[in-house]
Amino acid sequence: MNRKADQLFDSDRKHLLHPFAELSRLPEEGSRFFSSGKGVWVHGVDGTRYLDGIGGLWCVNIGYGRREMADAIAEQAAQLPYYNTFTDMSSAPAALLARKVAQLAPGDLDRTFFTTGGSTSVDTAVRLAHFHFQLQGKPSKKLVLARQNAYHGSTYLAASISGIRRNLAGFHHLADGNGALVRHLNCPNLYRAPEGMSEKAYCAALIDELKAKIKTLGAENIACFIAEPIMGAAGVLIPPSEYHQQAWAVCRRNDILYICDEVVTAFGRLGWMFASLDEFGIVPDMIVCAKGISSGYIPLGAVVFSSRLLERASNADADLDTFSHGFTYSGHPVACAAGLKNIEIMEREGLCEHVRATGPHFAEALRSLATLEIVGDVRGRGFMHAIEFTCRRETKESFDASVGIGKRVAKAAFDRGLVARNVEDMIILSPPLIMDADQIDLLAQTLHTAVEAVMDDLKRERLWPT
Ligand code: PLP
Repeated sequence: MNRKADQLFDSDRKHLLHPFAELSRLPEEGSRFFSSGKGVWVHGVDGTRYLDGIGGLWCVNIGYGRREMADAIAEQAAQLPYYNTFTDMSSAPAALLARKVAQLAPGDLDRTFFTTGGSTSVDTAVRLAHFHFQLQGKPSKKLVLARQNAYHGSTYLAASISGIRRNLAGFHHLADGNGALVRHLNCPNLYRAPEGMSEKAYCAALIDELKAKIKTLGAENIACFIAEPIMGAAGVLIPPSEYHQQAWAVCRRNDILYICDEVVTAFGRLGWMFASLDEFGIVPDMIVCAKGISSGYIPLGAVVFSSRLLERASNADADLDTFSHGFTYSGHPVACAAGLKNIEIMEREGLCEHVRATGPHFAEALRSLATLEIVGDVRGRGFMHAIEFTCRRETKESFDASVGIGKRVAKAAFDRGLVARNVEDMIILSPPLIMDADQIDLLAQTLHTAVEAVMDDLKRERLWPT
């Protein structure tokens, strides 16, 4: 490594705390630096080119190196870099992006609250649900229903709503104890559903659990149910086909707001600007989004909801008038200008249509991995896919954690020029939406070779077959 790269490596190791940092690993191995990107490719500091199989982190939907995005950001920064949107302040990009989002959103969702990302959007959605029920004269409706294994973010509330046990260990999270704000239900996982149970029966069991939970807690105490349409970080878990429609109907009957967390799925990943209605047939009460709204060129998040949530019932507290919630950077002009340009590019280039047309090819290309003995499941839709490994297919048994199977495959892929993300025993893929069929084939072939190499290593190290 040259001197400059050496200095970077050192600065990072000594002075930066990474999200989800593994304290024992980082000092030894250090970080992988990226310095530029173009299209679906990113470049390391040493000039090595990598195919980006993860779109940065589910977000660089329009791909890297878009000059017109950089120009839109620079022009807005030069004209008005910042003004707040508190109370009666505003700026053109915030108002115009809110109007554009209302045009794209399903049903009566006509209003947007801008945030800084997914986690702050999730927090906002819950606060808005509480505010709504105050306005409705139903202040006891406070509890949040969420699902185990969901990922909704890393603020304290969003982390508590997320149901990933290992991420909550040691924190004072706000879930599942007596009097806790958040209550978790089982998540749909068709790969690990009870043996021999049909998809329909599995769906019915999950919906029965939701109904039973509502009965136990009392609908009068529950504000909202929050769900990712397809659970991303949990390993691209696709629910049974009727699951969302049925859960949504149960929520409606019980006056529980349905919050769809589309941080990953909105803005094209499933072939639609919003997946809630077009892919899953529901108009939720709120949609949470981030990532693809600005393709990660600049931080931006949003909660899209219906103006009806702001209506006041006659028995509501007459003094309650202010939605006491907001971030300095809500409606940031530069971020909103980037959001507008990003949507313009997506529409002009037909990226949703491209994902709908190419998604089946993506699934087919990855299916070839299913022939490899340690691959238990290959699943996905549109431009989000996962490969789950197992040391014994018949029983779907997981590898011992010490094997680090996901990490091994991600490293083998990286060594072969592909960035793939490991989560536990899985590899997750969420590339830029501009990826074409040849690049998808290259991605699948590289991953195939990487898994074969890992299988050879496991045999050599006598870690598998067991
Ligand atoms: N919700 C979902 C479904 C996500 O996948 C994520 C992040 O990956 C978040 C919320 C949190 O978003 P952020 O990291 O922008 O706060």
